[in-house]
Amino acid sequence: MLTFAEAIHDGFGQTFRVDRLVHYEKTEHQELVVFDNACFGRVLALDGIVQLTQHDHHVYHEMIAHVPVLAHGAVRDVLVIGGGDGGVLREVLRHEALRATLVEIDARVIETARAHLPFVGADAFDHPRAEIVIGDGLAYVRDTERRFDVIVVDSTDPVGPAAALFGESFYRDCARRLTPGGVLVTQAGVPFFQGAQVAQAHRLRARLFAHATVYLAAVPTYTGGPIALGFASDADLVPGDLPLLRERFAAARLETRYYAPDVHVGAFALPPEVRTLLQGA
Ligand code: SAM
Repeated sequence: MLTFAEAIHDGFGQTFRVDRLVHYEKTEHQELVVFDNACFGRVLALDGIVQLTQHDHHVYHEMIAHVPVLAHGAVRDVLVIGGGDGGVLREVLRHEALRATLVEIDARVIETARAHLPFVGADAFDHPRAEIVIGDGLAYVRDTERRFDVIVVDSTDPVGPAAALFGESFYRDCARRLTPGGVLVTQAGVPFFQGAQVAQAHRLRARLFAHATVYLAAVPTYTGGPIALGFASDADLVPGDLPLLRERFAAARLETRYYAPDVHVGAFALPPEVRTLLQGA
């Protein structure tokens, strides 16, 4: 029996049965694997770490995309850093008034997602309101003259090319590239296992933005309890005005499986141990 054992936490890991190996390659940047599993459907892993599965990716993609867009309320331009599977791109483009730019370092992730994960990004890569840039997100935010209302950092964990996407100079550049009242959202990590990483990146964002926190979402294959998503803005948008979010959600005519305005507000309610983690940061 072929298995995939995730190598992310010291002393604990989840193991999947590989019912069918769909794709394997070493790209210029990372090891890329796609396989099928009876519980989770199709699975994408990079460098031994699960990035998404067919059956639970909607939780992450809906929460990382709709929370900042609906919290802001008047988004025209979104920048997605990473996100080569297309899931964030597809969700943000469901908001009809906005354009999205995706900057992914590894073209092979996009090509593989197009070929083997069509249920994630669907046709988002070819959408007329989407622009795809192959390059390093760090360099892009440093060099671009453009401004964005929302920046979503949908990165891998802070090893390899993604390490700098958790660093001070990257967050500083993101802050400079946001329009007034713009929102930065980041994949921060699972507090139970990655508390130090969540706290350290939060500390950096809190120095640069008037308001910084994290919100939580329960993604079954990001094991160890909810994953934290970093949320930072100079506008005070947390936890959100529920009647206003309901209005915006209805106006956007979104059909979602996990995101809902009350889930949005509730996601900012942090257990004391997570609040302590942020306060100690
Ligand atoms: N949701 C996923 C997770 O946290 O498990 C992340 C998925 S997405 C596939 C992450 C993407 O970030 C990868 O395709 C990777 O190539 C890309 N990436 C890593 N470092 C990057 C960088 N410096 N600039 C742009 N993209 C980067």
